[in-house]
Amino acid sequence: MENCIFCKIIAGEIPSTKIYEDNELIAILDITQTTKGHTLVIPKAHSRNLLAMESEPAGQLFSKIPGIASQIVKNLGASGMNILQNNEEIAGQTVFHTHVHLIPRYTEDDGFS
Ligand code: 5GP
Ligand code: ZN
Repeated sequence: MENCIFCKIIAGEIPSTKIYEDNELIAILDITQTTKGHTLVIPKAHSRNLLAMESEPAGQLFSKIPGIASQIVKNLGASGMNILQNNEEIAGQTVFHTHVHLIPRYTEDDGFS
């Protein structure tokens, strides 16, 4: 989709730090690292947010979250992880292409909530 920053990242038109990719999605480091390893899981097919997705692609997306998330926790030695997903401006969505935040938590982090 034109003027969608995540579509441009998926197309390789804007650089990103990719940590995982398959036919359906990419996982990239968030440009703002809330904690070390803060990752965005982004389906390649454009949709505005989860509220606009059909259940089949949404199910495909979420079926991959546990594997990607647990790999990040293991690789970075995190103690846990917040998994967040914002839908519409009122809920904090700023980029209108569906994405899931994976935010590793560490015993020494500052305890944001
Ligand atoms: P939202 O607020 O929509 O749930 O999350 C959007 C996220 O995208 C924010 O955490 C923001 O830091 C991240 N973001 C915005 N622009 C870029 C970009 O160009 N590259 C990357 N890697 N992340 C971005
Ligand atoms: Zn898009």
